Amino acid sequence: MPNLSFVHPSPDSPWGTYLSQVDRVVPYLGHLARWEETLRRPKRTLIVDVPIEMDDGSVAHFEGYRVQHSLTRGPGKGGVRYHPDVTLEEVMALAAWMTVKCAAVNLPYGGAKGGIRVEPRNLSMKELERLTRRYTSEIGLIIGPDKDIPAPDVNTNAQIMAWMMDTYSMNVGSTATGVVTGKPIPLGGSLGRVKATGRGVFVVGREAARRVGINLDGARVAVQGFGNVGSSAAELFTGAGAKIVAVQDHTGTVYNPKGLDMAGLMSELHGHGGIGGFKGGDKIKPEEFWDVENEFLIPAALEGQLNTERAKRVRTRVVLEGANGPTIPDGDLVLGERGILVVPDVIANAGGVTVSYFEWVQDFSSFFWTEDEINVRLDRIMIEAFKRIWETADQHRIPLRTAAFVVACTRVLQAREERGLYP
Ligand code: GLU
Repeated sequence: MPNLSFVHPSPDSPWGTYLSQVDRVVPYLGHLARWEETLRRPKRTLIVDVPIEMDDGSVAHFEGYRVQHSLTRGPGKGGVRYHPDVTLEEVMALAAWMTVKCAAVNLPYGGAKGGIRVEPRNLSMKELERLTRRYTSEIGLIIGPDKDIPAPDVNTNAQIMAWMMDTYSMNVGSTATGVVTGKPIPLGGSLGRVKATGRGVFVVGREAARRVGINLDGARVAVQGFGNVGSSAAELFTGAGAKIVAVQDHTGTVYNPKGLDMAGLMSELHGHGGIGGFKGGDKIKPEEFWDVENEFLIPAALEGQLNTERAKRVRTRVVLEGANGPTIPDGDLVLGERGILVVPDVIANAGGVTVSYFEWVQDFSSFFWTEDEINVRLDRIMIEAFKRIWETADQHRIPLRTAAFVVACTRVLQAREERGLYP
């Protein structure tokens, strides 16, 4: 059975990391600090058994989760992750980061997240579809367009969202496009959604560069994780004249101080499911990725990557957190002491959920915007949110992460206080 270690998780685990981040914001919450415990407890957690028939006729069981960390400012919002390491505790942290992220960019949502403990690469398409449909049905009790709206995350995509939308719709008896975001365009998806997270990473990177005096033209970028987020961000940095000097994914690490060819990396990714075999650079050991000199380091894979040891080694000026929770609390302190700017996940990767919000709004009105309209609105929200957080950091002389938590948690707890306790 899962261990509900709400209060004493290990400090470097995702939930432990989140709780330390809450500790750091409490001194800046003023009278709202009386509600701090709200931040430390998920509102609702659901664990489901997901049995499916495999292609060979056997039955396999998977464990699935949906956590609604907060519904204070609106319906829950957050992705669904398929990964063999998914745990309840990880999903709790990811849901909590969604609460902070949505509030940091001022979207009218709470925070939620889901996941299934599964290696999706071991499933056929048909098995993946059955898994997705049964999971959706099981969490159908608590999701809905005005309750909690899932979206893609690690190893999930538009096809999986289409199956989720269809399953939910069949169960309620009418087509409910607004139940998930990140759908295919013909099913009520939004233009610009696929690249939105990477675009947001780039936009805040550009804002940070302007403030610390880095010229994007010729700047060196290292990217860990070359999925949807990492590859889209890398493309935009390249377009602005930057060089991608190192890329790492689950298939390998490639390095070229003169810059890796972006088109070549993309065709390697699409042809082989990873960049490990790319010939336009040197293959280096995974751990050497952290020694590569660059101006921008973009962790865009999983949590817990920048530990103390790596934080001491990295040779960068700005860390742009494309992933959720890539830096552990002690790593954060080391980076701060070394004068390395960390643009935290809750703002750096908020572009995805921002365009998810646009998608949900478009689905409600059945009126769809052009890609230009989406991108202009996205850029505006990201730039304004970054500015507000930068000014808050300046005012209190605190890191950007704590500043983002100040802005976000103040919004959440203000709403909490105004709504009052029921009964
Ligand atoms: N999974 C993405 C995130 O971590 C997007 C969530 C969404 O669009 O709801 O922010």
